[in-house]
Amino acid sequence: MIVGYVRVSTDKQAELGYSIEAQKSNILRYIKLMNVNNENEIKYIVDDGYSGTNMNRPGLQQLFTLIETHCVKLIVSMDMSRLSRNIVDINKIIKLLNDRKIKLECVNDDVDTLSPTGMLVTNVRTASYTFETEKIRERTNYGLIQKADQGEYPCGGKMPFGYIKNNEHKVELNPLQAEIIEKIFNQVIKRIPIKEICVTLNNEYSDLKMTLTKLRVIIHHDIYSGRFEFKGKTYDDIVPAIVSIKTQEDAKLLVRKHIYKKDNEYIFEGILQCEKCGSFLTSVSAYGRNKNKYYYYSCGKCKRQIGEKAIDKILNSIGMEIAVDDRRIKNIENRYHLLRSKVGNIKDMYEAGAIDVDEYLNAIRPLMPDLNKYEALRGLIVYDELIEQYSLIEHIQKKTFVQENFSIIKINLAQKIITKIIQS
Ligand SMILES: [Zn+2]
Repeated sequence: MIVGYVRVSTDKQAELGYSIEAQKSNILRYIKLMNVNNENEIKYIVDDGYSGTNMNRPGLQQLFTLIETHCVKLIVSMDMSRLSRNIVDINKIIKLLNDRKIKLECVNDDVDTLSPTGMLVTNVRTASYTFETEKIRERTNYGLIQKADQGEYPCGGKMPFGYIKNNEHKVELNPLQAEIIEKIFNQVIKRIPIKEICVTLNNEYSDLKMTLTKLRVIIHHDIYSGRFEFKGKTYDDIVPAIVSIKTQEDAKLLVRKHIYKKDNEYIFEGILQCEKCGSFLTSVSAYGRNKNKYYYYSCGKCKRQIGEKAIDKILNSIGMEIAVDDRRIKNIENRYHLLRSKVGNIKDMYEAGAIDVDEYLNAIRPLMPDLNKYEALRGLIVYDELIEQYSLIEHIQKKTFVQENFSIIKINLAQKIITKIIQS
């Protein structure tokens, strides 16, 4: 009997061209090329979804049983690593085959298990397979999925906000950040608009730099209810939950519903920043003498405020005054994006461990003044067009427009002027 041994590992994606059918047809073609006696029956043994790092495979055990019954003449496999990726196991298998005078052929390797040199070649190859397996463990999906299956956090780089990785690669809570996450969800559940949540958080935690985009990402990131998705599978034992699944799902729905709920109130809610102290302004309303409602934005620290109508007027007037020079804008945009990608590449290299912190700082330092300059220029110019649009749209559409297009408007409350606009 000729046995065609086929193995497909758990991570089928990592083994393109090594499907069960591909292995079978390659083995058959190889057997035909070998001109072996046609009277030999060909039997395929398949281990579907098993790793080659140990011998706990039903197919391999079946092969051993067949070997014991002395009916196997030849074993054909794609390569040695199909049979085993472990040098100790491969030596056991080869010794067993030699003792029984069974020949092993591999489609992709020239292995001659019956000669001493063949054995040596096999050993060297297997050693390198084992070495490769170690590398693969570190680097490819296969290893990462195994990590995840063992409850380890498989992704490199920075941990999501709220978490830290301990020395055993297990995920733990970052107490302060987890507290912030909990606060965010609790406030969303209480139907507090996320603009307001953003303002409160930035005022409470000065280094946080929370944005609406970040908030939305957090609310929709299932990791915070302990659901960690990796390579198409959801794990519930890798990342500790900060909120319950129900809380998160409720929060997701509320955010979706309430983003633009109050269409015509507080056009600039959550995006006005006091230039003097950096606080985000809170939205306030009051009734005037003729029972009309007025909207204000107030800095709690500086005790100064500005009316919505005043900001509206400033934006309208800017929109009329500024002429847009396309070439200049394009030039600034190009320079800005070039610098951004340079800085981004250096950051990536640093995060990947390719350069150390000193090299990182030395590389990034000369770029920063220019980056800041172009960022500021961009802040002044690019939004001309947006501000122009702003001045042209109906009042009722302004809130949606502003909330969608602007992320921060810096305001000098004493002089009542806008000093910077940052686009979403
Ligand atoms: Zn202030």
